[in-house]
Order: sequence, then structure tokens, then C-alpha cells
Amino acid sequence: MALEALKEAVRKITRSATVDKALVEEIVKDIQRALIKADVNVRHVKEISDAIKKRALSEEVLEGLNPREHIIKIVYEELLKGIGEGLEIPLKKSKIMLVGLQGSGKTTTTAKLAKYFKDKGLRTAVVCADTWRPAAYDQLKQLAENYGIAFYGERESKDAVKIVENALKKLKDYDMIIIDTAGRHALEKELIDEMIEIAKVANPDYKLLVLDAAIGQLASKQAKAFHEAIGIDGIIITKFDGTAKGGGALSAAREIGIPIAFIGTGEKVEDFERFDPAGFVSRLLG
Ligand code: GDP
Repeated sequence: MALEALKEAVRKITRSATVDKALVEEIVKDIQRALIKADVNVRHVKEISDAIKKRALSEEVLEGLNPREHIIKIVYEELLKGIGEGLEIPLKKSKIMLVGLQGSGKTTTTAKLAKYFKDKGLRTAVVCADTWRPAAYDQLKQLAENYGIAFYGERESKDAVKIVENALKKLKDYDMIIIDTAGRHALEKELIDEMIEIAKVANPDYKLLVLDAAIGQLASKQAKAFHEAIGIDGIIITKFDGTAKGGGALSAAREIGIPIAFIGTGEKVEDFERFDPAGFVSRLLG
């Protein structure tokens, strides 16, 4: 996984006999290398590592901590600051619209999200408004059936906006409605127009962008473009399991100031977790 090398930096601190300037500098270099390797934007790497260095060399060790714990605490806090807050979606009646490029993992993520909210006790339904990719309908229907989740779609229709309109009439009794929209290979005008129309009809509480972690720093450009086009409330990073470049998507979220809501960590519907920054950073550090 991305950022695995951070654990080694922490181990180095734990193993060291003394904590001095040389150790701090070495650790900061290790962290820089780990972040750059994980495709974190160079500017963010510099901000984070400068802050760690400055604090580690100037702050007094807090009572109750030894010098090693003190530095690890600083590393933890600065990485957490670098990641920012996660988006927590309250468990109440809501509509979520998923957007993203084709292949980003939208349809899989629609099912993952639905299962997540169903497991939390919400009456959950999914809507296939992806009329672009022919297999999307069957894929989502099958996934929904497997997990006992209500599904709405119109296999023969090409009118995504109408499908959403019909879906919302049918699904009035559901708490959580998740709409899977079409993607394209690029953010074309036609796709933007369709997203805007669907958003008008659906009036979603959350527009979440599905971003493939494997694209590394390109995530930033993609996220910005979607945000400018329709306004994004949160990001779901997919395929975090299969890439060493996941730092790029984390950086992208920070750069445009949009919180991360969930991460996908595998192909299975269960491979999905709410993005909890504190838990995430703790795990990165071992
Ligand atoms: P869509 O075109 O955006 O709807 O993408 P799909 O949902 O069809 O997903 C495209 C591919 O990515 C499929 O092969 C999925 O199994 C895979 N995928 C989606 N999310 C993840 C993830 O978190 N990890 C991994 N390894 N694969 C994923």
C-alpha cells in the first residue's frame, strides 16, 4: 500500500538510542521520501516535513512523554493536519449522487455505499442513471440483489434525467438513495450537462466524486475539473489497495479543500471504509 515506508521511519525513532538533531533530520528525510514516493504533491510534502522539523527541533518534550514519543506525536499531528478532516455523512434521510470518470469504480462504489448504509439500519436504495455504459444496469442490479438492496433502473432508456425523476417517485419511502451516474473517459461537455441536469432533478444532499487512487497526482486536475463543473461535497477514493500512488488522491482532496468521505480498498463490496483521518494516520504509522 501507499505510504508503507512511514512505518519504517517511526521504527527508526523507536529504535534510536538518543534523539538529537541528526535523528530528526534523518527522519524528516525518510518521511519526505515516503510521501514523494506515494505521489503526494511536492508542495504538501514540503509543508508537512518543514512543520515536523521545526516542531521537533524547537518544542519542549511534554511531561509524561519521552523524547521518542514526543517526535512520533509531532509526526502524527502534522500528517493528520496535512490530511484534513473527513466527511461524515449523518445517518438520516438523504440522497447521494456519485460522479466520476468511467472506470473510476462508481458502480462498485454505489453498491459499497448502499451496503454501508443498509448495515447501519437505513432503508437504502440504488438508482442506475448510467445510460452510457451498457453493462452498468446489470452490474448494479446484480450487486443490489446480492445484498438485499432496492434497485431502480430502466434498462432501455437513454434518458438519465427522466430515470432519476421516476426513481425518486418510486423510492419515496427509502431513507438513503444513492444515484450512480454515467462517466466518460474525460470530462466532456455532454457529461457535465447531464450531471447538472441530474443534480437539478435529484437535489442531492451530497455530490460525491469517485476518484481512482491509481492515477496519483492526476487526481488533482480531475477533482478540480469536477468541482468547477458541478460542485463536489466529498471524495471517495477507490483502489487504494492496488497502488503505491494513493498519496496523490489524498493530496488532491487537500488541494481543492474537499473532505474525503470513504475509501475503497478492494473489488469486493465489503472492501470499503469510512475515511477516519485519525485512524488512518495511526495505521500509517504502525
Ligand atoms: P465505473 O465505470 O466507474 O462504474 O467502474 P466500476 O465500478 O465498474 O469499476 C471498475 C473496476 O474497478 C472494476 O473492475 C472494479 O472491480 C474495480 N474497483 C472498484 N473499486 C475498487 C477498489 O476499491 N479496489 C480495487 N482493487 N478495485 C476496484
